[in-house]
Amino acid sequence: MLPTFDPRDTEAGSRILEDISSNAGHIQEQVLEEILTKNASTDYLKSFLNGHSDKGLFKNKVPVVDYEDIKIYIDRIAVDGEPSRILTNESITELLISSGTSGGKQKWIPKTAEEGERRAFFFCLLATVQNRYLHGLNDGKALFFVLINPDIHTPGGLVLRTTTASEIKNRKDRYPEVIFCEDTNQSLYSQLLCGLVQRDAIVSIGTFFASGLQRIIKFFEEHWQEMSSNIRTGQMSDWITDPKCKRTVSLILSKQMPDLADSIDLVCQEKSWEGIIKKIWPRTKYVQAIITGSMAQYIPALEFYTGRLPVVSPAYVSSEACFGINLKPLCSPYDVSYTIIPNMAYYEFIPIGNHQDPNCTNSKDAHLKDHIVDLANVKIGQHYELVVTTCTGLYRYRMGDVLLVTGFHNITPQFKFVQRRNVVLSIDTDKTTEQDLQNAVTIAMHILEPLGFFLLDYSSYADTSSIPGHYVLFWELQLRSNDDFPVLDQVKMEKCCSLVEQSLDLQYKMLRNRSISTIGPLEIRVVKQGTFNVLMDFYVSRGTSLNQYKTPKNIKSEKAIEILDSRVVGKFYSTEVPNQDS
Ligand code: AMP
Repeated sequence: MLPTFDPRDTEAGSRILEDISSNAGHIQEQVLEEILTKNASTDYLKSFLNGHSDKGLFKNKVPVVDYEDIKIYIDRIAVDGEPSRILTNESITELLISSGTSGGKQKWIPKTAEEGERRAFFFCLLATVQNRYLHGLNDGKALFFVLINPDIHTPGGLVLRTTTASEIKNRKDRYPEVIFCEDTNQSLYSQLLCGLVQRDAIVSIGTFFASGLQRIIKFFEEHWQEMSSNIRTGQMSDWITDPKCKRTVSLILSKQMPDLADSIDLVCQEKSWEGIIKKIWPRTKYVQAIITGSMAQYIPALEFYTGRLPVVSPAYVSSEACFGINLKPLCSPYDVSYTIIPNMAYYEFIPIGNHQDPNCTNSKDAHLKDHIVDLANVKIGQHYELVVTTCTGLYRYRMGDVLLVTGFHNITPQFKFVQRRNVVLSIDTDKTTEQDLQNAVTIAMHILEPLGFFLLDYSSYADTSSIPGHYVLFWELQLRSNDDFPVLDQVKMEKCCSLVEQSLDLQYKMLRNRSISTIGPLEIRVVKQGTFNVLMDFYVSRGTSLNQYKTPKNIKSEKAIEILDSRVVGKFYSTEVPNQDS
């Protein structure tokens, strides 16, 4: 049973947080016991445990799995319409579309009514933390952008939606009507317009992921003149036809507001958009968006646009479960750790000896079961891949997220989100992970930063169309000053290519250094501005929700490579062979 409390009651929430974090080991044992007792009779668990619900047996017999291993069960429920009980004795009410893909396909994660309650508990705890540390949040309004896609139904008759859409549609009374609009452009336009009209009331701004916030700022850049004209005339643009948007906006845009329009024009007409958030919404105290893991690449861009307002990275959550809360919401984006909430799921951890070597977690061998540890046994400074067992039918399910233990709150571990397990680039025996690439790109950008550039977004692919194959990085650069884009300095760009190579691991450098090298010089293709928005729009058009979108760091789709390639404005190659001794 989860404790209940009013999220506005900070004292009560804090007490619960202290209590659960002081009893994490015990709570975890209870959670596992409850999951096994409840679900011992499911087809899935029966096939390993023969109807028993013993915890020791569970650890011995139930395999550690990936999505691919359980997909067959999910498809039986989602496609063939078989009952939920083949996986879980909670009744599956919806399937959540996870942004993590499996072999290029979406993952469908079961959701139950009870899971909805667990999530509600998690978000009450999160609200407690925010009320405690983010002073002044209640002195005005929060402008939190939410975009949802239309529901899809599976052949078996279940609703398929994103986690956000699920939360919102199941608690309709809590949210303004505008966010139920399923047309992303109309919805975003209307939400921004509402935010502009109420600009003096806004004290915090946010969305789920930092990449989404960056997209919203770009959308604002493309539409501010039209929005300002709507405010001047008191009339919303004709292309906003969605009744929910029209009703919401008409409540606050009921008259001509030329002074407000003038003040918006004045800010937006400035040549540089540095600090635009703070200028447009001058009372903003915080910006909220997940900024850890692959989102860390957006920190410089957000610092630029927000005028260095504190960016709060609130939580570590997924379609599978809600995992952790940042108990120091005002810490630097680079220092964020999440404290695990022990009531949400049963957690196990696969230690990663050398986290640079992704092979050690990619294997499916039985050793995984021998090495895996539970929450009570993780060690500070050690990297782990997270494995979860939930009431919704996931048993020892590998999340694919690599976490680093940074400390404890009471006896509950705190984790830094490091990377997705996946290898993004691979040629021959080299395997470059998302984190390797991110570090290398950050180091190489030091060459361009003094010239006023920051990296808006990037991606990559292994080009094996010629021999030897080589890695290609697509970079979208932005000038802080908003001046016309200068001709890129060839020597400096080549230096960036070399620095990326120099910052990759020894294996990569060895393959580059062979007398007959098996990896060719790394290439950076600079793309014109707006390219990564077009890429995002492409993925959104194929069913990804803008709220969940994370730029793929490894592009596989030919169409997506075409989108990037058709917008290349400069190609540069490394001219030095990386030094293996450094
Ligand atoms: P989805 O299921 O589409 O909501 O995506 C969940 C995934 O997003 C997780 O498995 C992580 O890889 C990523 N994610 C969620 N929260 C965070 C966070 N706070 N920092 C970094 N990545 C995150």
